Amino acid sequence: MKGWILPKNSLSYWLRQLRKDSDLIGPLRTPDGDIVFESVEKIHEIVLDPPASLPSVKEFFLPQYETVFVFKTDTVRPIQEKRKRVIFGLRSCDVAALRLLDRFFLDSQPDPYYSERRKNTLLISVVCNRPDPTCFCVGIGAGPYLKEGFDIQLTDLGDRYMVEIGSPRGRRAVREYSFVFQRPRKTDLEDQFEVQLSSTARFQQRINLEGVRSLILSQRVDEGFWQEVANRCIQCGGCVYVCPLCSCFTVTDRVYQEHIERVRLWDACLFKGFTRLAGGILPNDAPVSRTKRWFYHKLIYYPEGIGGFGCVGCGRCAVVCPSKIDMATVVLNIKRVSENAVSG
Ligand code: SF4
Ligand code: SF4
Repeated sequence: MKGWILPKNSLSYWLRQLRKDSDLIGPLRTPDGDIVFESVEKIHEIVLDPPASLPSVKEFFLPQYETVFVFKTDTVRPIQEKRKRVIFGLRSCDVAALRLLDRFFLDSQPDPYYSERRKNTLLISVVCNRPDPTCFCVGIGAGPYLKEGFDIQLTDLGDRYMVEIGSPRGRRAVREYSFVFQRPRKTDLEDQFEVQLSSTARFQQRINLEGVRSLILSQRVDEGFWQEVANRCIQCGGCVYVCPLCSCFTVTDRVYQEHIERVRLWDACLFKGFTRLAGGILPNDAPVSRTKRWFYHKLIYYPEGIGGFGCVGCGRCAVVCPSKIDMATVVLNIKRVSENAVSG
């Protein structure tokens, strides 16, 4: 029978074993009540079935700030993290996002920094039993559970987890501690099916990105629409930083007395200077061109170049944007405006 059963009272033991040769990272609650993924010291402090973390786990693969190498007059020393990590408790949409980021960072010109981190990280995702009101992964096939692409996927069945294995790395992490796992019974599989059904039914938003992509491609969204959206954007970059699929970065040199560090840090295509050219030329000077580019990138260019939407429906942009310019709201507005144009 497919999968394994992990009794909940063995979870802590299993994670403790995995932590022996890896950093354990999981969702923890800050004093302000936010959920952040951090190194776990006390396993009982891991928040099980939390709301979406801010930001996503993207930062463990593409850090906000990293030194990529240090050079002195006669030497260049690349800096690469080699430590093994286990990330526990991420959501299906975050796993789906990493699979798309893999195509961006690994397919044509592999990024050694991202690659090393991916290779050294085991992902243990948990099926969302309680999606947030802002979530819409279900319409994109990025959640609440995945059929493939995970290392290990857990489904909460009350007093136990259904454990599915999706990679050799995941198989090793279960096989080494096989004594804490049990073979599932028929009733466990039935319970898993029930949980998946009820979780899917709990989504408040069903959003069809394909339909909106067609509307944009058939020129049914005019410039005035994007102008109105751009007028409300204060260009804070919040949506870009929390999005698990935004991967804009910049590279700069920090000069010290004895050496120079080349650093890579997050950037945002919504910022005016993002594509500044030599001579100070700004090809995307008008805010509307940057706002439009963000949505076009995710809805048009990403499917063409990467093979999937640049959005997994995590809903984080809806949580952080002070101006309600999140993917779900804009997509629903595009549909509404197009329908009104047809009926009018
Ligand atoms: S665009 Fe918004 S909803 Fe989509 S993946 Fe990015 S943050 Fe999540
Ligand atoms: S979070 Fe909202 S206001 Fe801030 S940059 Fe993104 S769209 Fe603009």
